[in-house]
Amino acid sequence: MNFDLTPEQDQLRDAVRTLGRKYGHSYFVEKAKAGEHTTELWHEAGRLGYLGVNIPTEYGGGGGGITELAIVCEELAAAGCPLLLLVVSPAIAATVINKHGTDEQRKRHLPGLADGSRKIVFAITEPEAGSNFHRLGTVARRDDDDWLLSGRKCYISGVDEAQHVLVVARTEDSATGKLRPALFIVPTDAPGLECSKLDMEILSPENQFLLYLDDVRLPADALVGESLDAGLPALFSGLNPERITVAAMGAGTGRYAIERASGYTATRKVWGGRSIGSHQGVAHPLAHAAVQVELARLMIYRAASLYDAGRDLEAGVSGNMAKYAAGEAAALAVDTAVQVLGGAGMTTEYGVATLLGAVRAGRIAPVSREMILNFVAQHVLGQDKSY
Ligand SMILES: Cc1cc2nc3c(=O)[nH]c(=O)nc-3n(C[C@H](O)[C@H](O)[C@H](O)COP(=O)(O)OP(=O)(O)OC[C@H]3O[C@@H](n4cnc5c(N)ncnc54)[C@H](O)[C@@H]3O)c2cc1C
Repeated sequence: MNFDLTPEQDQLRDAVRTLGRKYGHSYFVEKAKAGEHTTELWHEAGRLGYLGVNIPTEYGGGGGGITELAIVCEELAAAGCPLLLLVVSPAIAATVINKHGTDEQRKRHLPGLADGSRKIVFAITEPEAGSNFHRLGTVARRDDDDWLLSGRKCYISGVDEAQHVLVVARTEDSATGKLRPALFIVPTDAPGLECSKLDMEILSPENQFLLYLDDVRLPADALVGESLDAGLPALFSGLNPERITVAAMGAGTGRYAIERASGYTATRKVWGGRSIGSHQGVAHPLAHAAVQVELARLMIYRAASLYDAGRDLEAGVSGNMAKYAAGEAAALAVDTAVQVLGGAGMTTEYGVATLLGAVRAGRIAPVSREMILNFVAQHVLGQDKSY
């Protein structure tokens, strides 16, 4: 058993950390407050090869796996820049297209995803279906060689900065009631596709949208894969990378918050010559949060290595558990950091309360803590499904 990263992964971690610190949390917050995107950071990360670490070298990527992408997500977040679109564009979209797309789709989309010049976001959630994707109501029907897509999606991140959206629909002939998902690569400027921005209480340079698809006409090659049979495996192939990378982002955010807070408590003195961190009432909650974050990190890199070894079923269990653990640990770490910073914790300057909304959302999205507990109860503990 070996818990160490390879020398190349260590170098990647150091290099991404350096890039993240060059921008830092104040850059992230300024962009979010100005209603702008972290475009400079995204493009620099793309130029340096960090956005394409998991994409094969023949398409301009780094030829690594989800472990490498998790390192990128964690280190940027640990520098105060948790970039949500890393989870949808390189983790979900690039994996789905690489594993299940046609040759033509790989050639068309992967080089741009690798260098960051192209973003593809991901749309599965619907207002009525919610957590139950078996109820998806977005329908794809054939019209000669074309496809026509109709339906509604909600909370879709990054539509305003993406060239395409990977839409999960179901094919109309599923009258049997059996889910037959199909994935489509839809240009964000396609006629019939409208979006409206949702007002969210999360300080983030990335936005969420409602999507309305009204007979969006797509050519036959917008369907991911050679045939409809690719739909279900393509959908599932995006889930483990999504859970692992979002967990890595959570763990990085937790590290960032603990580092900010412990730097403060080690030097802040309000009782004579002692630092507030010398009081166990301050130090223990921070130490507890640090343990929770480290536990989550172990689960994340175990899940990533299982995934990269092609052990998808085990990676599914591990990835879900890691996502749960990291979501809880990040929320705990940020809340604890705010508390031990006192009034400073609520200021913009100290840069921890700015993450409260994001870590709270991390317990809901992209899969809620309850749905993970359902998964673990059924698939690990053998309990009956209640719904
Ligand atoms: C910031 C943010 C970004 C997002 N980005 C995207 C994106 O890019 N693309 C995308 O497709 N979606 C995105 N989402 C949507 C996200 O994946 C969903 O919000 C999430 O899956 C939960 O679905 P829901 O909101 O419909 O909740 P619901 O399904 O309505 O559930 C509400 C609550 O009930 C609980 N619940 C529901 N069913 C059960 C059950 N059987 N047992 C126990 N508890 C249950 C849930 O856990 C949840 O707490 C985003 C959401 C947020 C907040």
